[in-house]
Amino acid sequence: MTVTVSATAAPTPPLAARAAAIGGSPVRDILAVTARPEVINFAGGLPAPELFDSAGIADAYAAVLRDQAQRALQYSTTEGEPVLRTAIAGRITARGLATGPDGLIVTTGSQQALSLLATALIEPGDTVLVEDPCYLAALQAFAFAGARVVPVPCDADGLDPAALDELVARERPKLLYTVATFQNPTGRTLPADRRAAVAEVAAQRGLWIVEDDPYGELRFEGSRVPWIAAHPGAADRAVLLGSFSKIMAPGMRLGWLRAPAALLRACAVAKQAADLHTPTVNQLAAARYLADRDLDAHVTRVAAAYRERRDAMLEGLPAALPEGSTWNRPEGGMFLWARLPDGCDTTALLPAAVAHDVAYVPGAPFYAGTPDPATVRLCFVTQTPEEIAEGLRRLGTALVNRPQAKH
Ligand code: PMP
Repeated sequence: MTVTVSATAAPTPPLAARAAAIGGSPVRDILAVTARPEVINFAGGLPAPELFDSAGIADAYAAVLRDQAQRALQYSTTEGEPVLRTAIAGRITARGLATGPDGLIVTTGSQQALSLLATALIEPGDTVLVEDPCYLAALQAFAFAGARVVPVPCDADGLDPAALDELVARERPKLLYTVATFQNPTGRTLPADRRAAVAEVAAQRGLWIVEDDPYGELRFEGSRVPWIAAHPGAADRAVLLGSFSKIMAPGMRLGWLRAPAALLRACAVAKQAADLHTPTVNQLAAARYLADRDLDAHVTRVAAAYRERRDAMLEGLPAALPEGSTWNRPEGGMFLWARLPDGCDTTALLPAAVAHDVAYVPGAPFYAGTPDPATVRLCFVTQTPEEIAEGLRRLGTALVNRPQAKH
């Protein structure tokens, strides 16, 4: 058969509606624009690379490839390597939530856990409740599943349990998604009494709770607040997500999903379709690291450095932001949330900041409800205290000449 290529080829069929409708993350777009090395970047959520335990991780990979190469380089089970599942279960149990290795699966970052949950739980048109503002890539995962995303009113402490109760009664959602500790983007932490109230709403009204906790171990001060998943009443309806990204290294793409048995099975089936399993060599290297090294001591060192960086940001903000601005003081994590005076639009101001070689993420894209254009997310962990001070000086210069507020 001869195939002739016609000059007027018919168009290819269109993308799926969901692919056409859901845009890329504005944070990733900003990172692309600010990739110039001279830009001091408060925009990305990047852990400090110089604090990775590169030597320890290299040793763990070398040991695995020396002692277990045939296993490490082979396909593995979808649920994850037993040695790593056992180690993760032990860490969760030690933090107050009894868990066995069969109670969790290893995921390719906790981001994959969000996609698996969306596949396993959400029918197109189902309602998902989220914090407002909310972690952006979770909004994307739910949008891809066709969810109707409804924001729950929040204040400086996070979710309002009474508002949640009303919304659950009215909207009959499938699930609530929350980052209860050192939230992305705001850095805030939901207090213990509200966690109990959220668990109670879920128990009374019938609701899955997805508690995403990649930042909880990065605490600089104050004391640990128990997981929502640890409250009585939440046991058969809480999903807990964790990750080594912020405490070991994000490039290893290792997270986990702890869920009741039937949901966990459904997520494992969804994972078969997604990637068969998380890379074996990474799982075994992490397990080896956990066996040979002291991850908690490493996390303590990282948290001490991050605390200094948060303090550097808190010190520089009063001079950098216009009078009337407000911001919070997170007790851990990677992000701080600020609000410029009424009338300021941080999206419109970003080009001026980038022209002064400093970047941030405007707060607006994080809102599932009405955005507050005056808000901004600042990541305080990627630069040294000196660089943070310099970045804030540049930001101050950029904002001093900002276009005047519209009334
Ligand atoms: N959840 C939240 C709240 C996050 O901030 C992030 C990373 N920025 C993730 C999940 C995904 O992390 P990873 O896939 O690297 O575990």
